[in-house]
Amino acid sequence: MSTSAISPSPPGMRVPLLDLKPQYEPLAAEIQAAIAKVCASQHFILGAAVKELEASVAAYSQCRHGIGVSSGTDALLLALMALEIGPGDAVITSPFTFFATAGTIARAGARPLFCDIDPASFNISPAAVEDFIATQCEERDRVLVHRASGTRVRALMPVHLYGQVADMESLMGIARRHGLKVIEDAAQAIGSADAQGRRACGFGDIGCLSFFPTKNLGAFGDAGMCVTNDAALAERMDVLRVHGGKPKYYHALIGGNFRIDELQAAVLNIKLRHLDAWSAARKRNAHFYDATFAGAKLGETVMTPRAGAGVRHIYNQYVIRVSDRDALRQHLAGLGVGTEIYYPVPLHVQQCFAYLGGQAGDFPLSERAAAETLALPIFPELAESQLRYVVDSIAAYYRA
Ligand SMILES: *Cc1c(COP(=O)(O)O)cnc(C)c1O
Repeated sequence: MSTSAISPSPPGMRVPLLDLKPQYEPLAAEIQAAIAKVCASQHFILGAAVKELEASVAAYSQCRHGIGVSSGTDALLLALMALEIGPGDAVITSPFTFFATAGTIARAGARPLFCDIDPASFNISPAAVEDFIATQCEERDRVLVHRASGTRVRALMPVHLYGQVADMESLMGIARRHGLKVIEDAAQAIGSADAQGRRACGFGDIGCLSFFPTKNLGAFGDAGMCVTNDAALAERMDVLRVHGGKPKYYHALIGGNFRIDELQAAVLNIKLRHLDAWSAARKRNAHFYDATFAGAKLGETVMTPRAGAGVRHIYNQYVIRVSDRDALRQHLAGLGVGTEIYYPVPLHVQQCFAYLGGQAGDFPLSERAAAETLALPIFPELAESQLRYVVDSIAAYYRA
């Protein structure tokens, strides 16, 4: 019996993981006019559209300053550079995240130090960080030192994974007690907030956003932003973004070319006005999934994502946990349902980080998440019939 015979599959039904076209179509004329305006001006670098975007994204994130950059990855790198984190330093982060989180720490010349996640939120566990500091670090002359490597622990880099803020109250407490800087990797979490309504990017020293097309606010290519409440840090990032030249051609600092494009900013200025509605539609879809999985008596088999009480989860991804994940994924692909694994290999066991000495078994909760998680289609424009088809297709797998 073919799998489609056991599921109520409407003919031709397909549910891609993400389809950006229905979001673009209603905005096409407006966006094309904005692009045409930039073309007519021939002002492509750090113009009026970039200024407008920096002000509005900073305000959206409840922060004072925004520095538009070339990508989310470059936002992280620029933040590390602005905080003068480099060789001899270390940064504590999660091993269960996109590569750029730890990749930029290493590119800055510092050492990524991993701590395991909270299995409910998938975000770095404050208790694991506390334990790591208590057992593997020591204060020497008021500097926190990682004993095994001799590096100075300078910062925490929590990730607000899938669109839900990490436990920043606890993490900021740890940072204060140990004199650590905090860089928030908010690439997946623009506008997400804790139960007090405090938004991602405003807790730590610098928040880093990505406008990669798959994020809730996606550009037409690569773009990102650093946001901060610290005027001195904002000024430093503004200068480092243009090779550290201030005035132009006079370099007190070595920076890079980390600029956002004027064309991308023009597109994002229009899209930002719709971001709240898109994030609300993602949440609606998430609630539909939650209720429909529960109604299909799949509550035991499919662990749906858990949003903390009162938090604003923006569902950049809707990630379930299942046993038999890879077989389920294949079954869904056969029925035209797109899924993805974010992320199949935790960073401590990536080949390029072998020099850090990490091994399988070091972070069991991250490793388990890497083996069991599966992202389902959640984009705002999905029809209820498509969401139902996804649930039905998963139900069919576990019934068979
Ligand atoms: C997307 C992402 C990044 C990198 O952003 P880019 O714009 O693709 O460079 C960094 N961290 C996390 C958690 C991400 O999801």
